[in-house]
Amino acid sequence: ASREVKPTPTVLAFPTGQTGGGHFMVAAGPCSVESREQILTAARFVKRHGAQMLRGGAFKPRTSPYAFQGLGEMGLELLAEARAETGLPVVTEVTRPDLVERVAEQADVLQVGARNAQNFALLSEVGQAGKPVLLKRGLSMTLEEFLMAAEYVLAAGNPRVILVERGIRTFERATRFTLDVSAVPVLKSWTHLPVWVDPSHAAGKRAWVLPLALAGVAAGADGLIVEAHPHPEQARSDAAQQLPEPLFATLMQRVRALRAAL
Ligand code: PEP
Ligand code: MN
Repeated sequence: ASREVKPTPTVLAFPTGQTGGGHFMVAAGPCSVESREQILTAARFVKRHGAQMLRGGAFKPRTSPYAFQGLGEMGLELLAEARAETGLPVVTEVTRPDLVERVAEQADVLQVGARNAQNFALLSEVGQAGKPVLLKRGLSMTLEEFLMAAEYVLAAGNPRVILVERGIRTFERATRFTLDVSAVPVLKSWTHLPVWVDPSHAAGKRAWVLPLALAGVAAGADGLIVEAHPHPEQARSDAAQQLPEPLFATLMQRVRALRAAL
């Protein structure tokens, strides 16, 4: 992952856009896939406002075993349908090594979540799946540990990894996590891999998603992953932080304006 090994930035290309080396992408969509209507509506509006990738969890790594765990297989199929209609590539989380092959058949990008960021068996497995990997920073991971986790994917033969700063655990409880904005310039100086910011899980509240997204862009992020939902207040996971269409539209406008000014 080191720039000393590979000085040129790694650029990942998708049919809808590129990330890395000055190229910027936004992935957006609901926290969880909940229904056909919900994911198709979300896919249409995030595309309309300029997102180049659709996100949506089918297998959800919930903190509580009693919380909604995602639609699983059905969720993957609905994501494939949303991709077929909109042309947006799909990123979705894979939570277990034995699911990697199945998720990789449907997804364009495999997400490894914060809670699995040091699940080395999972990292090695996604490294062999032949799909780009979006790796979230663990809740209490140092940047060095984060890069070592990415190294498990690279070492398995997959050079296509996106690193995502999504907030870390600190003493502050006002936000859900503390967005470590400095992770962006530090990681970009150490590694050739694209670095994204997830303002949604850091903020935990929709009102703070926009300023954190802008902070990430200003710090030099190569992309954003943002939660957006047709009816966030009814969402089965992360209801407080998902953006309804009007707020998502504003975020995209402000991000474009800021990028043009950088
Ligand atoms: C998510 O993207 O919905 C998610 C669970 O994120 P994280 O792993 O960063 O908490
Ligand atoms: Mn979420």
